[in-house]
Amino acid sequence: MLTNLQTRDVETLVHPYTNLAALRETGPLVLERAKGIHVYDVDGKPYIEGLSGLWCTALGYGNEEVVEAAASQMRKLSFTHLFGGKSHDPAIELAEKLKEMAPVPISKVFFAGSGSEANDSQIKLVWYMNNALGRPQKKKIISRQRAYHGVTIASGSLTGLPANHTDFDLPIAGIFHTAAPYYYRNAEPGESEDDFATRLAAELEALILREGPETVAAFIAEPIMGAGGVIVPPKSYFPKIMDVCRKYDVYMIADEVICAFGRLGAAFGAPVLGYLPDAISVAKALSSAYFPIAAVMVPEIMHQALLDESRKIGSFGHGFTYSGHPVGAAVALKVLEIYQRDRIFEQAAAKAPQFQARLKAFADHPLVGEVRGMGLIGAVEMVADKATKRAFDPKKGVGPKAMAFAQEEGVLIRSLGDSMAVCPPLIITPEEIDDLFDRLGRTLDRTLDWAK
Ligand code: PLP
Repeated sequence: MLTNLQTRDVETLVHPYTNLAALRETGPLVLERAKGIHVYDVDGKPYIEGLSGLWCTALGYGNEEVVEAAASQMRKLSFTHLFGGKSHDPAIELAEKLKEMAPVPISKVFFAGSGSEANDSQIKLVWYMNNALGRPQKKKIISRQRAYHGVTIASGSLTGLPANHTDFDLPIAGIFHTAAPYYYRNAEPGESEDDFATRLAAELEALILREGPETVAAFIAEPIMGAGGVIVPPKSYFPKIMDVCRKYDVYMIADEVICAFGRLGAAFGAPVLGYLPDAISVAKALSSAYFPIAAVMVPEIMHQALLDESRKIGSFGHGFTYSGHPVGAAVALKVLEIYQRDRIFEQAAAKAPQFQARLKAFADHPLVGEVRGMGLIGAVEMVADKATKRAFDPKKGVGPKAMAFAQEEGVLIRSLGDSMAVCPPLIITPEEIDDLFDRLGRTLDRTLDWAK
């Protein structure tokens, strides 16, 4: 029996990433408030936000300093844009701050409202740059199977998950997907992690050669794949991939939408995974999700191309109404200030061994095929047969069932296929980490009992 709010919900809303038919039966979980790492439903039941919302609420909820930064910016200048030569202090300062924090030389920062917009902009910029550089045939973009880069037509094409393509008529032409560094499933029997990485780099090179290096513009990669199942690549994977990209003058874009700002215990994820990109996309923890904001961080070669095109065409013809929204910029500045002042990245690194130890202890559970993780992010892949790695029949819905059990146990997580992803706010305490994993342990036990 649905409550009044639930009934009104299913009669009015299209929910993203939801089985809309099933939701009509169960109704949604309606949340009302939050504090720290906990969110509360309309009945007052608390849940640990085990996925930081959607991998984004790094500072947790109810941070009054951030609230005050938003409120005071709203009072002072609630909106102005950056079109046609307008500007404002928070956008300037935030761009300076991001340049200062970047792990590679960044010349300029373009703001957007979401990760999808940021990655879409990255593609458009690469196409634009290569036109400016007089190589209009160099336009193809290589992404990876299982990648998640967003859902707009171009960023959704970069995404390498079937649900984002099927019946949406994606991907668009000119976007290719190479294999994911998913050792557990994609390695050949007896193949070492290093050999696996070598093979994947060789496959990338073969793809570039097949298409023609003069037509391949860019490669985009998350340091650790998030929505694809929290895939942690072998150590030598990115150095080998980078060698191939450099050899064929392929521009490397790091999609740091999940990994940046402390998730892996450092400001950015790419250097932790052993690569230095040309350009970077950030969003989510940039504002700790207190306001939608994303940024595209580009090198000087890109900036020069934008200047040349501006001289030729008269204007850089790209931008969103909310590119550099002053409230978003003020919020992000405050969030970055707190990260640095409270040493949030260092603290995340300090808590990672406990988090990873608790996660990895699930490897012995009879339902678990593999556990993966780094820093304060991880996943548990549930399998029908541990010895053979046989997956469950997707129709059985093991992932969604585990998610429902977790919810009953007072934890919100997301199932990605048959993997359970966990990515709590970075402010989680050691006691809360234990509490989170105790609940997830009970979730696994209940899921095993149900699946038997
Ligand atoms: N890139 C990565 C790595 C993401 O995880 C996401 C969202 O989860 C996106 C891009 C898309 O961001 P948004 O949902 O803000 O468009």
